[in-house]
Amino acid sequence: MVNPGQKEDKSKTTGEKPGTVPSAPKRQIELPPNITVRQLADILQVTPIDIIKQLMRTGIMANINQVIDFKTATVVAAGFDVETKLEHRAAIKARAQEIKTQQKQQQGEQAAGLQPRPPVITIMGHVDHGKTKLLDAIRQTNVVDQEAGGITQHIGAYQIELNGEKMTFLDTPGHAAFTAMRARGAQVTDITILVVAADDGVMPQTLEAIDHARAAGVPIIVAINKIDKPGANPDRIKQQLAEHSLVVEDWGGDTIAVPVSAKEKTGITELLETIRLIAEMEELKADPNKPAEGTVIEAKMDHTRGVLFTVLVSSGTLKEGDVIVVGRVWGKVKAMFTDAGKRVKRAPPSTPVEVLGLDSVPEVGDVMTVVADEKTAQAAIEKLKASAPSSSGTINLSNLYEQVNAGKVKELAIILKTDVQGSMEPIRNSLEKLSSDQIKVHIIHSGTGNINESDVMLAIASKAVIIGFSTSVDPGAKRLAELDGISIRVYDIIYNLVDDVEKALKGMLQPKEIEVIDGHADIRAIFPAGKKEKAAGIYVTDGKILRSDTVRVVRGGKIVHESTISSLRRFKDDVREVATGYECGIGIQGFSDYNVGDKLEFLHIEKAS
Ligand code: GDP
Repeated sequence: MVNPGQKEDKSKTTGEKPGTVPSAPKRQIELPPNITVRQLADILQVTPIDIIKQLMRTGIMANINQVIDFKTATVVAAGFDVETKLEHRAAIKARAQEIKTQQKQQQGEQAAGLQPRPPVITIMGHVDHGKTKLLDAIRQTNVVDQEAGGITQHIGAYQIELNGEKMTFLDTPGHAAFTAMRARGAQVTDITILVVAADDGVMPQTLEAIDHARAAGVPIIVAINKIDKPGANPDRIKQQLAEHSLVVEDWGGDTIAVPVSAKEKTGITELLETIRLIAEMEELKADPNKPAEGTVIEAKMDHTRGVLFTVLVSSGTLKEGDVIVVGRVWGKVKAMFTDAGKRVKRAPPSTPVEVLGLDSVPEVGDVMTVVADEKTAQAAIEKLKASAPSSSGTINLSNLYEQVNAGKVKELAIILKTDVQGSMEPIRNSLEKLSSDQIKVHIIHSGTGNINESDVMLAIASKAVIIGFSTSVDPGAKRLAELDGISIRVYDIIYNLVDDVEKALKGMLQPKEIEVIDGHADIRAIFPAGKKEKAAGIYVTDGKILRSDTVRVVRGGKIVHESTISSLRRFKDDVREVATGYECGIGIQGFSDYNVGDKLEFLHIEKAS
């Protein structure tokens, strides 16, 4: 391992490299913040031995799997006459920092009233790596409120205490819930714990979780779990993480990894200490002396108690009797309970409390605010109802150029899904090369497999577009994308994919046209209409048919004619549409050859983003 003490030497060497400045333009490569010797050798197209020799010249003894940082890699690359640039992961980090700064500014709280608040933590990771077990272990080892006799209840989050300091854990593990909340505009998490099972290693959802946390700008602590298992190999996990640019401290990076066993409850205190450390560095603060604001993290209808919802207070202090507006409903806080089932009168920042006091169930992700009185609450709801929801925050490839020109967009965030790993890098490289001074192309997440709901959520939360290569879109993801105006484009040819993004960046991309099937009908009768023409009596079997639709005549599975509708009638009246289960008469432009039993398909063309 390259020890940090060697860094000074390296930086000295970076600046001056006498004799290595050739007159011809140098080859340029992009590198992550940290890279193994083997990977650097591959990129530079030399042998690992060449790299190791070069490192030795700068006083660093390294082996092939050793991780070296960007500065060191730059020195090595210079030895091969190659210039380096920090690649996208660095951009992700920089962006994360930017988001954090923005958030801090947005809070707009006056520094005078700010006081430290407990961190809010979400646990993420691959399925079966022990997220739930770890949440249980943390809760059991550090219950805040012993008085309540250990009668804990699930309210969506819980608080624990470590040496008098509180921490709040969200009870719904996984990045899907995390990003779903973010997609609704609510970012409640301060710190992510990435659980990786030591006997299994870095898996697809581990990588997804890393990207989701990074896109949100939330710091990551790695919990290497299941170290009690015989096959556990924490070092292998660290190496795998490093290969994906999450470099842990003892590998020279800045991510802290803590070995734990959720089963045997070992390493839990160390993990909590680490959380405390990161929380301290993040300087999490809120003003407890103002009317409360918070986010709904769980809501339900309880048969005995009525509507119950859990709110995580983000700022201010929520009090019994407060008038609250939650999403599009309002009410009054009648009673509040902690996760230990204890009734409380006040809930300061970062506290999750179950609240009684609304008449209808709010939605998870809804914002709660305390207002002065009932009148203000009603006025606030009326205003909300009047303002229609808009998808103006979304980006699509067809209007990208306008948005860039209007100064609204400086970066095209892309989620890239491919069929196989092998197609990923060439596409990623080609796309990232399209970056210009005006707009940066930034792939915030890439993975293999279908485009799923989690991808769409991430796109909503991060204002990204989704691009697929030789992959398909899950039906749920398609619905969600349509609802939220998220652009999904799928390609089978890399050239077309890159070309479309390039055109979008230059404002030359035509909106794509898609066929929308409105309904189907069967021909049941044929009758004359005018001198030579005929019309058909049809029965609508599904959907609905519109007078403005295009119609296809399908016979024996083949399309025999396609044109517009010349007449659509019910009982001699011209109609604009006919729904499922109804009969009507139809005339099709330029067509008379109707057969009983022919099927008709009705469709229209829409321009998609
Ligand atoms: P999740 O899907 O990430 O929430 O994973 P779970 O918490 O449900 O754990 C999956 C399985 O791993 C369960 O059978 C747990 O009992 C087991 N498990 C979790 N943590 C540990 C651990 O530290 N050691 C061992 N040996 N098993 C564990």
